Amino acid sequence: ATPVGLLTGTGRGAQLGILIKGPQVLEDTRTVDTILLDKTGTITSGKLSVAGTSAFEGHLERDVLRLAGAVEAASEHPIARAIAAAAQEVQGTYDGGRLPAVEHFRSAPGGGVAGTVGGRVILAGRTGWLRENGVSITALQQETLDAAEAGGATAIWVAVDGVPAGIISLQDTIKPGSAAAIERLKGLGLRPILLTGDNAAVAAQVAAAVGISPADVHAAVLPAGKVEAVKKLQAGGATVAMAGDGVNDAAALAQADLGIAMGSGTDVAIEAADLTVMGDDLGQVAQAIELSRRTLATIK
Ligand code: ADP
Ligand code: MG
Repeated sequence: ATPVGLLTGTGRGAQLGILIKGPQVLEDTRTVDTILLDKTGTITSGKLSVAGTSAFEGHLERDVLRLAGAVEAASEHPIARAIAAAAQEVQGTYDGGRLPAVEHFRSAPGGGVAGTVGGRVILAGRTGWLRENGVSITALQQETLDAAEAGGATAIWVAVDGVPAGIISLQDTIKPGSAAAIERLKGLGLRPILLTGDNAAVAAQVAAAVGISPADVHAAVLPAGKVEAVKKLQAGGATVAMAGDGVNDAAALAQADLGIAMGSGTDVAIEAADLTVMGDDLGQVAQAIELSRRTLATIK
C-alpha cells in the first residue's frame, strides 16, 4: 500500500508534508514509547563521500575504485552512490568517460554488491558478506580495515576474483537537526535506540553526538536483525516506532507498531511505513508525532 491520507488535523500536516496510511496511525503515535532510529540517511545525511582508497599488493588504488564504482553504479545505496561518483572522477575522460560495463549484477541489502567486469568477478561490501562469498581475508588486510573504522569511517572491501584487492573508506555527516530532534523525541517520552548495519566505531561516535545512550546502540545489524530488534522490544512490552529510509529498513518498518519513512528514502521503505515525512529532517519525525497526538486529542 502507498500512503493514502495527508494529515490535515490543523492544516499544518499538509503544510509539513506528513502522509499517513489511516486513522489508526494517529492512535499509534500516542502509545509508542520507544523509537528505533536507522543511522545512514536517517540520523546522518546519507550523502557519503569517499575519504580514501587503499590497494593491496598487485593492485592500483585507481583500479580498486574504478572496478568497485562500475559495480556500485547499479545500486542506489548511499555507499554505492559515493563510490560510483568517486570512480567517475578517477575515470575522467579516459575511455570516453565511461566506467567499465558490468554483467551479472546482484546486490545483497546490508551486505554489498557483486558483478562481473571484463571477465573478473568484483565484490564490494562488508566483511561477513565477503566471507559468505568465499573470500578469505588476511590478518594484515583486516588491520587496514580496522584502522579505517577506528578513525570513524565506514570502510568496505573490494575483492577481485575472490581475493581482497583493497578497501574504500567513506565519511558521512550528521544532519544539522538530528541532535535537537532526538532531544525532542525524548521530551515526547520516547526512548531513542540506534540501529545500524554500519560498524561499532562509527555507530558509537554518531550516538554520542546526538545524545543516544551507549547502551542503546546496536551496530553491524543485518536487515533481518533489525526486524528481530523490533520484535524483541515488543516482546519486552515496548510499543515501538521505527524511523528509516532504506531497503534494509523496510521489514523492520512493517514490523514496528509505528513505521516512519523519511520521504527522501527508497520507495520500499515508504511503502512499508505507516507514516512518511516528506522531507529528510529527523525533526519532522518529532513534529509528526506531536501533530498526530494533538490531532487525535482534537477528534476525541
Ligand atoms: P545502515 O543500517 O547504516 O543504513 P546498511 O544495512 O545499508 O547500513 O549496510 C550495512 C553495511 O553493509 C554497510 O556499512 C556496508 O559495509 C555494507 N553494504 C551495504 N550496501 C553496500 C553497497 N552497495 N556497497 C558496499 N557495501 C555495502
Ligand atoms: Mg539508512
